[in-house]
Amino acid sequence: MRSVEEHQRRVAELIRPPKSLPLRLDLALGRVLAEDVVAPIPLPTFDNSAMDGYAVRARDFAEASEERPVFLPVAADIPAGSVASVPLAPQSVHRIMTGACLPQGADAILPFESTDRGDEFVRAHAPTSPGAHIRRTGEDLELGGVALRAGVRLRAPQIGLLAALGFARAPVFTPVQVLVLSTGSELTAPGQPLAPGRIYESNAPMLAAAVEEIGGIAHQLRFVPDDVAELRARIDQALAELGEMDLVLTSGGVSAGEYEVVKQAFSGGEAEFGNVEFGKVEFVSVAMQPGKPQGCGFYRSGDGQSVPIVALPGNPVSAQVSFEVFLREPLAAAMGRPPQPRLRVPLAEPVLRSPSGKRQFLRAVLAEDRASVSPFGPPGSHFLRSMALSNCLVDIPADVVSLPEGAEVDVWDLS
Ligand code: AMP
Ligand code: MG
Repeated sequence: MRSVEEHQRRVAELIRPPKSLPLRLDLALGRVLAEDVVAPIPLPTFDNSAMDGYAVRARDFAEASEERPVFLPVAADIPAGSVASVPLAPQSVHRIMTGACLPQGADAILPFESTDRGDEFVRAHAPTSPGAHIRRTGEDLELGGVALRAGVRLRAPQIGLLAALGFARAPVFTPVQVLVLSTGSELTAPGQPLAPGRIYESNAPMLAAAVEEIGGIAHQLRFVPDDVAELRARIDQALAELGEMDLVLTSGGVSAGEYEVVKQAFSGGEAEFGNVEFGKVEFVSVAMQPGKPQGCGFYRSGDGQSVPIVALPGNPVSAQVSFEVFLREPLAAAMGRPPQPRLRVPLAEPVLRSPSGKRQFLRAVLAEDRASVSPFGPPGSHFLRSMALSNCLVDIPADVVSLPEGAEVDVWDLS
């Protein structure tokens, strides 16, 4: 059997390196910045007023008080968005609105609150001091300064900063494009009546959601029956329609049964599906539970494209755990995202049995304070509800067969 670590390496090798492109800001939310962004203009871009009031020379108002107000003419009016046409002469003021450009000669703002708000003349009953209520050029970010570092995930404030700097686009890592396909003649679309012996299909929506959770784009190709020729034809058609995919992700059809369509379709027989030039798809047993049967390699489409393929087992819990173990990290890395940190947490209850020679991933619930972890639900890989009610996986090494309460374990936080 192949070790988990070895299969992780094989799968990671299939995933393309990160690529970037300048993306419109309205599409960039949640994406990771691929390059440092340098300020092409300072912020603030010019000295401006932080208050509605008057641009003044502070010394003209140094002595203003309730008892001895200062009375001066208003020589100009500067709304936001305009620039005063004349410099500020001594013994006069310019009326100025928040955000408007400070006129030459002014060194302070006298807010309306300190005045009678006069139009032609203003009476000030409080003093001001040099620099008061002025937003200085570059005090937030100087020209040429690093605005954001590569690797930052763009959220609302970062989008705002980029816009404030005048960028209509941002250089971000492009999403990986994944063709998610489910095989099985027993599968029925949710929302349809369920015939005897059929089940609702859950893997494709689940795996597509997993891809999208980390910022990828998933294209679902569902309900491919257990038929080798049709499976290939459907993938080829999808690739022709959608264009280049970074990964084909299948579930089901890889174990030891009679109708293992994925395995039959990709594991050779015909030279073009097993040839070394394009790599081949290998089907292996990985020493883990759940998720033992796995496949990975390159698929060569009818028109000669070579596309990485990862074939996961069909049981829903196996498929989802396999995604966590083999795909989450390399797909995230291809979009510039860091790996999820692992935790070390003591078990709230013992693990009585873990299979010898297999790494086990137990569905579990991490306490809110993250101080303990409890394995949850039965081990069978068809128990999807116990996966849905879990918030983490406990990773038990292959050589461990049981653990007492309180033993520290590796925890993969899925929340
Ligand atoms: P297989 O490996 O194809 O034999 O599938 C193993 C188990 O997983 C069977 O019980 C299948 O019905 C189930 N299964 C396979 N694919 C899906 C799917 N897309 N959605 C839900 N269950 C599936
Ligand atoms: Mg099947």
